[in-house]
Amino acid sequence: MKFRKYFRGSGRVLAFVFIASVIWLLFDMAALRISINDVNQDLKEREIVLNQGRRKGNVEGVLKHPLQKVNIDKREFFKNRNRFERKVDEVYRKWPKFRTETQALLKHDKHLNPMLVTGKSFVEQKEEINQSKVNQTVKSLVKGTIISISPKINETKTVINGKVNSITAKINKINAAVNGQTEANLDVKAHLLTKALPAVQEKMYPPALKENTVVKIRQTNDTLLMSRNEVHVDAGLQKNLSNDLLKPAETDNPKNIIDNRGNHINTLNKTKPDITQKAAEEVLRSTSVWARRSGGLHKVMALDVTDMPRDLQAMGQFGQPARVPRDKELESRRRWSEGYFNVFLSEQIPIDRAIPDTRPQTCSENLVHDDLPNTSVIFCFVDEVWSTLLRSVHSVLNRSPPHLLKEIILVDDCSTKDYLKEQLDVYMSQFPKVRIIRLKERQGLIRARMAGASAATGEVLTFLDSHIECNVGWLEPLLERVYLDRKKVVCPVIEVISDKDMSYMLVDNFQRGIFRWPLVFGWSALPEEYIRKNQVKDSDPIRCPVMAGGLFSIDKSYFYELGAYDPGLDVWGGENMEISFKIWMCGGEIEIIPCSRVGHIFRGDNPYKFPKDRVKTVERNLARVVEVWLDEYKEIFYGHGYHHLLDKSVTDIGNLTEQIQLREKLKCKSFKWYLENVYPDLDAPLVKAEGVIFNAGARKCLVFQNGIFFLDKCDVTNKSQQFSYTWLRMLRQNTSCLTPQEMQIIMEPCDNTKPHLRWMHKSGKVLTDHVMIESHSQPICLEAGVKAGIYLKNCDAINSFQKWQFTHYYA
Ligand code: UDP
Ligand code: MN
Repeated sequence: MKFRKYFRGSGRVLAFVFIASVIWLLFDMAALRISINDVNQDLKEREIVLNQGRRKGNVEGVLKHPLQKVNIDKREFFKNRNRFERKVDEVYRKWPKFRTETQALLKHDKHLNPMLVTGKSFVEQKEEINQSKVNQTVKSLVKGTIISISPKINETKTVINGKVNSITAKINKINAAVNGQTEANLDVKAHLLTKALPAVQEKMYPPALKENTVVKIRQTNDTLLMSRNEVHVDAGLQKNLSNDLLKPAETDNPKNIIDNRGNHINTLNKTKPDITQKAAEEVLRSTSVWARRSGGLHKVMALDVTDMPRDLQAMGQFGQPARVPRDKELESRRRWSEGYFNVFLSEQIPIDRAIPDTRPQTCSENLVHDDLPNTSVIFCFVDEVWSTLLRSVHSVLNRSPPHLLKEIILVDDCSTKDYLKEQLDVYMSQFPKVRIIRLKERQGLIRARMAGASAATGEVLTFLDSHIECNVGWLEPLLERVYLDRKKVVCPVIEVISDKDMSYMLVDNFQRGIFRWPLVFGWSALPEEYIRKNQVKDSDPIRCPVMAGGLFSIDKSYFYELGAYDPGLDVWGGENMEISFKIWMCGGEIEIIPCSRVGHIFRGDNPYKFPKDRVKTVERNLARVVEVWLDEYKEIFYGHGYHHLLDKSVTDIGNLTEQIQLREKLKCKSFKWYLENVYPDLDAPLVKAEGVIFNAGARKCLVFQNGIFFLDKCDVTNKSQQFSYTWLRMLRQNTSCLTPQEMQIIMEPCDNTKPHLRWMHKSGKVLTDHVMIESHSQPICLEAGVKAGIYLKNCDAINSFQKWQFTHYYA
């Protein structure tokens, strides 16, 4: 009774107004939630997009699980050296054997004095070459600043020379001991051994062996070079010197180095590479490999100049974590943004540090061909940190068989840092194999790589990032695959150098590069089941749907046959997708080679600027890739938060004619083929939903026939009842799409660029079964008429005539 009075007179009006506003409010809230949900989804997708990139996010995300720390406790070394060595042996294998035997040998030699046994003329001549060569290089490179740089270089060179000499002497001594010679004839015999950084020797090919020919040594700067024509290993010597007897000497402690003027040197430049005796030993070892050469096979060479590191106690040695001293914490934090990793620590650790041999056990026993193709290693960089750039280069020089390393090309993508100019020129001038190319304008990683490739003279191109460390035996297994089939494009296992403590971390086996929608690069382990069934060994190459992008080798002519990279790709991002799809779809293969391992610093941010907005650049690149390679699957990409890229007035993805023509010319297969044959595990439904559309109120299905819509008994075999809800949120039948017109529905040719054809369905928690116009500010929904036909009406959460269900939902 009490209520009734409110429904009388003006009370009735008030009550009506109140109820009406409540309903409106509910609608508004529903609409708001829809749009919030939608925005949330978009935001989530945007976040993916923001993190989009082949190697970004790997550290935190996919790579986290497979990481392992290398278990060497450096403190153990001081407590119990033997135990430490045993531990090192776990990763270095063979190493202690060389070491102890050499020590034993050297101990017996009381007269060992490097300065006495080094041929003096040899030293002087070397000094001369250094001087003129450096000056010449410096002059041609730097005008006006010669004086300031040159003396420093010479100073360092002297140090190195001194070290070379002492090493030379020790090798000679071992040599002499082995051959039962006296010191008197050592300076003659000095020429019997070459000692060099194995990888910095120019034109070094497997030499033709001639009996009793004497080794000639050509020297440039502090690096001893052997050229193809000049190097002839004395076969007699080879016979006498079994590998076991050619062990490295105790590594020189920098403090004890005496330069060739007799001065003690304890100022060995931290960033200066070391030439160890092992280098010389390895050259001989490798030449003995060549001695066996008969167009046949040899065991992978474990060349590693640094596996007898000069400073065992150095920070970060053996890839161990380095620590920032208390009083340097501020500095280290301050310098983080120079590279977005611990730049301070990187500077403290030797640029030629040893890292653990993380290859699967069988790798060192693997055979590779004697006549592998050589390679040009290309490093592109922009504003790279000095110490990491150098460490990258040295790791290649120190751990690559010299005859396979044609050159190292550094492509400076218009860096802004001063130290990457003259200072770098001068530093690299000591390595004849290193060439520097400077781009006048910032081109971005993709075009910078192409510039590097066009300058390359090697048979195979090997692209590397400029903050990596190549591991022992990294190169041959890559080249072997290219040798077996030039259409194989091969990647090393990318291990992780910690951005925080610079430690070298192993990654688990059986990881392959993949992508998830919307073209986000990631790693995924081969399924256990697959491994068991196919008896996959941990050293077997792994087929890889998508490469990470930064590190790979490709036959040079094949690279160009594939049209290199799409030159329209800017700065960074998406190029790994482009080249991966291109390779697979146009007849090639991508493999990860577990026996080849390279550490990479995964960084949380780029230390360089993007000329345009980073997100926009990456998504534009991806759109180019998608438009050329993804066929009908491109809708899945756009449907994952990239609708906006379809609006040509907002995003200009540039001209694609050449890329499309290239795909035709190469007669590449379809993306469908790629998905079925290369990456079958990817979920790639072409639409979000499909089948008949059932209306809950009418309990009938939507039909479009002879130009009109009506509802009829559901019949899944009736083509007129078949619709799909696409990734771009269109309601499609064949090539036509449901289009709102006033409050009616018509059919129009589908056009993904037209937002007014988009419908919301199943996208939020409210009105999920509804089909609502996306572009309207008011919630307008598709409703089935009681008798027939369909209309647009204000959305009503409880009206079952506004509820629609497809037969199948895929996403
Ligand atoms: N790079 C370049 N120009 C650019 C962007 C990047 O030369 O415009 C170089 C960069 O210095 C690095 C390589 O390309 O050596 C790959 O870039 P980055 O390491 O930033 O990629 P990430 O490994 O983080 O994916
Ligand atoms: Mn990188």
